[in-house]
Amino acid sequence: MNMPIDLRSDTVTKPTAAMREFIANCEVDDDVIDVDPTVGALQDLIAEMTGKEAAVFMPSGTMTNQIGLRVHCRPGDEFICESGCHIYSYEQGAFASLSGLIPSLVTGDNGVLEPEQLLGTIKADNEHFAITRLLCLENTHNRGGGRVQPYENVVQICKWAHDNGLKTHLDGARLFNAVAATGIPAKQWASHFDTVSICFSKGLGAPVGSALCGTKEQMYFARRHRKAFGGGMRQAGVIAAGALFGLQNNVERMSIDHENAQKLATMIQNTEGLKLPGPVDTNIVMMDVDEGIGSAAALAGELDSQGVRCLALGAQRIRFVTHLDVSAEQVDIACQIITDTVSQVLAGSRELSGTGAQY
Ligand SMILES: *Cc1c(COP(=O)(O)O)cnc(C)c1O
Repeated sequence: MNMPIDLRSDTVTKPTAAMREFIANCEVDDDVIDVDPTVGALQDLIAEMTGKEAAVFMPSGTMTNQIGLRVHCRPGDEFICESGCHIYSYEQGAFASLSGLIPSLVTGDNGVLEPEQLLGTIKADNEHFAITRLLCLENTHNRGGGRVQPYENVVQICKWAHDNGLKTHLDGARLFNAVAATGIPAKQWASHFDTVSICFSKGLGAPVGSALCGTKEQMYFARRHRKAFGGGMRQAGVIAAGALFGLQNNVERMSIDHENAQKLATMIQNTEGLKLPGPVDTNIVMMDVDEGIGSAAALAGELDSQGVRCLALGAQRIRFVTHLDVSAEQVDIACQIITDTVSQVLAGSRELSGTGAQY
């Protein structure tokens, strides 16, 4: 069989020969004693690209988000976020276990928040209540299907937050996808937030790492918390080099992933039994599977056996993500395999067996 076409996530990309060579040749030093030169170069570049004074490199986006929360909040504080966001849904509730914070949830339309939804969410200054300290936004929104938060909404929401004494944190794991989709520079998106988290291991194709960006003072504390969270890494240039290479080479090409995602979206719209739950703005495509076909997990299992890998995210929902390791031709092949499989199941000539994993 051919290599599987892996559409499970944009984190599945593998470093190319050119990236590996860049990694092999990077200069390193002890980044806990001082600053590793390659880590330093990466931190300077991402700080510049987001228009912030400083940045701190960390092993994961979970850590940059959690340390972002820690920088802004104290134990017992509350932060406002969208109910499907990564910080709330996919980080084990670490805001509670590690920092003693509570979330205040607002549910968006496929993750997209409207400014009016935030009105009245800040607790009164009263000793009965937790102190509302921070507002978090996710752009693009992962669980929302890669949706871009409309720029005007972001401007208004962050202005409201700052006018009311809140800090703002952007989970910009896929901020560069929002940049590619809108043409609005990262710096402009980031200007509305006090801190910004960026992942290098998603669409940028690096094997490891994320950065938290903000003021020098915030990043001084972020670096302290990073050590306490277990994220002080010594010759970390070895991994920062992959991130630096991704940032220098893989930002511009991201619109290709979005074009490929549109092929999947069109296929879903044109296939009986499949439905798009929302618009496809970037590189993530959600697909709802008719119960008449079977469960999402069963269909994902069947597609896997035919060389198309995807994730079942709900009882009837499958997620596909395009990235730099899948070509337009491979996406065409995947579309064909998906429509053929679904139509054979509906015609009764193929049976879905077993249940795959659900995420
Ligand atoms: C991937 C992701 C993160 C960070 O995930 P890690 O696996 O910890 O690097 C954070 N936010 C969003 C929206 C993500 O998609």
